[in-house]
Amino acid sequence: MLSTTSSPNRLPAGTRTTDPTFSPVPARVRIGTPPVAFRAMGLRSRLGRARDAWSSHLATIRASEVVDDRIWQELGDALILADVGVATADELLDEVRQRVGREGVDDVDGVLGILKSVLVDRLGGADRSLALGGSPSVWLFVGVNGVGKTTTIGKLGGREADAGRHVVFAAGDTFRAAAADQLAMWADRAGAPVVRGAEGADPSSVVFDAVEHAAARGADLVLADTAGRVHTKSNLMDELAKVRRVAEKGSGTVTETLLVIDATTGQNGLIQARQFAEVAAVTGIVLTKLDGSARGGIVVAVQEDLGIPVKLVGVGEGADDLVEFDPVDFVDALFAVDVTA
Ligand code: GDP
Repeated sequence: MLSTTSSPNRLPAGTRTTDPTFSPVPARVRIGTPPVAFRAMGLRSRLGRARDAWSSHLATIRASEVVDDRIWQELGDALILADVGVATADELLDEVRQRVGREGVDDVDGVLGILKSVLVDRLGGADRSLALGGSPSVWLFVGVNGVGKTTTIGKLGGREADAGRHVVFAAGDTFRAAAADQLAMWADRAGAPVVRGAEGADPSSVVFDAVEHAAARGADLVLADTAGRVHTKSNLMDELAKVRRVAEKGSGTVTETLLVIDATTGQNGLIQARQFAEVAAVTGIVLTKLDGSARGGIVVAVQEDLGIPVKLVGVGEGADDLVEFDPVDFVDALFAVDVTA
């Protein structure tokens, strides 16, 4: 039996969507500037351990007066320890060496400046916007258990509601009773309804109901959680395909499939991510727990390996701890000399 709960303090159904500013949503609308509260905190102060690990290496490198073999070795070690991956670290350093030679750079700061620019080039150029364009649009969240899907949906739902969008949460992780309760709490905070099913119910039916619920009320967006059980590849493919098909059965359109990866799992996380990326048409990565990982380089590895842009980064458990990934800010934050943002 499916049920819908909503916050007692939420606006009456349809209130937001009766405002001509918000509805109907034109095709392929892109999210513009996020609310100030969401952007206000600098990445630099929030990368936590990801920055600390770099900082100690960079301090050693910066202390050197000359660019010698030891510096190149130190840079290579720093990149590998930061989880950039061995092959990518080698490629990055080759590129930096070539530019250092070409540009006649002979000081450590110059070398670091070139490394920053090479990193920004590698990470840059991707479209990181989150697409809208259905009535409602559906954003599916996929990934293994515990990576932070439910938390990310909660944070993002709050942000979208603050931006004036009428959001519906779909508790599609029916295999973990706590997941629906957790999502209901976030929905309550966002003043948004959550559609949930009985424990063990078919996740697709929950997503279907949420889309119907959203369509009936003229809501803009359904944020759908999915179960993160470890599957065989064919089960995973079948289940995700079914959720997607059902989400689009009525008037819903899946405009984003966001793969959530836990940064603290490093290269293991990458292996799981590859499996998901092979079976689902993933449009973006959310990299969570970057605050608790000493390995900020995983951002580079994920994007290089999967060829899918990192769109959002989780830097804590609170409602504001989700930031849009910006390559320049990110690289600046990693290379910043002090930790005061
Ligand atoms: P799910 O199983 O994928 O839905 O994962 P959950 O959303 O339940 O998250 C698992 C745990 O990770 C929870 O304790 C969250 O509070 C925590 N978590 C999620 N995102 C972040 C993050 O960006 N930083 C930190 N430090 N913890 C996070």
